[in-house]
Amino acid sequence: MKIAVLPGDGIGTEIVAEAVKVLKVLDLPLEMETALVGGCAYEAHGHPLPESTLKLAMASDAVLFGAVGDWKYDKLDRPLRPEQAILGLRKNMGLFANFRPAICYEQLVDASSLKPELIAGLDILIIRELTGDIYFGQPRGRRIATDGHFPGAEEAFDTMRYSRPEIERIAHVAFQAAQKRSKRVTSVDKNNVLETSQLWKDVMVEIGQQYPDVALDHMLVDNAAMQLVKAPKKFDVLVTGNMFGDILSDEASMLTGSIGMLPSASLNSKGQGLYEPSHGSAPDIAGKGIANPLATILSAAMMLRFSLNQEAAAQRIEAAVQKVLEQGLRTGDIYSEGTTKVSTVQMGDAVVKAL
Ligand code: NAD
Repeated sequence: MKIAVLPGDGIGTEIVAEAVKVLKVLDLPLEMETALVGGCAYEAHGHPLPESTLKLAMASDAVLFGAVGDWKYDKLDRPLRPEQAILGLRKNMGLFANFRPAICYEQLVDASSLKPELIAGLDILIIRELTGDIYFGQPRGRRIATDGHFPGAEEAFDTMRYSRPEIERIAHVAFQAAQKRSKRVTSVDKNNVLETSQLWKDVMVEIGQQYPDVALDHMLVDNAAMQLVKAPKKFDVLVTGNMFGDILSDEASMLTGSIGMLPSASLNSKGQGLYEPSHGSAPDIAGKGIANPLATILSAAMMLRFSLNQEAAAQRIEAAVQKVLEQGLRTGDIYSEGTTKVSTVQMGDAVVKAL
């Protein structure tokens, strides 16, 4: 089982170190190789996704990814910015299905800004299509320069585009995921305005007929954004396109109080996957040893489940995380009175001990 370990920038190195520590105590034949990605790769090799890193990722069963980015790279040309590394990995590895669970842990119910009764027991799965839509439409990111200089451009446009096969494959992923849960899928689009969304809805209905045991309903994206804060437990599996999914999955993750708790998985049709926390590189707290490593540790559990076929090991990690929360251990982002504040390393050590 070959794993490419790409810690990246900011807190990426700190949190990935803890996940690697946890993986190492599992006593599985894991072969882990580390490479640079993001801003640190740009510094060392002049590109956020060097050829050698991409090659390693493509040749691995799974990628364990930290986070990339720092404000200091904001002035770079777009193709050289750290975040482009993620788009490059998604595109080259064909990672079209993004799984973002939003789970509210009983012990953290007070960390949410919503009333406890709205989110206690929350367990929703957002499935976001990841390689189509406005982020990859052609022509993309076109600015109309009036005088040959983009900074003086008068107009800009991006193209929203989806093809039938792209929607079909993400629909299958969503219905199959729902079959293992409560057998309900909510498809989110904007079909009252957008042609892309009408095609999305039509294809969802068609594919849904192949899954008679799963109930399908549809919601407009603006309503979905409202329902997520009004009655989030109404949802089970929510499937949507790349841009709507980007926004709604961040909204859903904040329902649970801390983005430091939420893992994610991005899969291709061969089961290869990239596993990363839902949050970014948090430059504001980088190097302070206070970042929450649990989202990354839980991403490693998803990796064992989805790409390495090690369900039992995945469950062991998830149970160990539950245990440290029950013990009252908290990093700063999820700390509340009466609990014990711990550092990144102490949290990783506690998970190892619980295992
Ligand atoms: P962010 O997720 O990095 O941070 C948002 C806030 O949450 C910050 O206050 C941060 O301190 C806190 N936070 C995030 N993760 C935490 C953790 N594990 N423990 C404790 N607190 C945590 O988002 P941002 O500030 O908007 O972006 C910072 C950089 O990260 C930017 O360069 C952005 O482009 C990049 N980014 C990268 C990814 C990625 O690598 N997949 C995703 C989002 C943002």
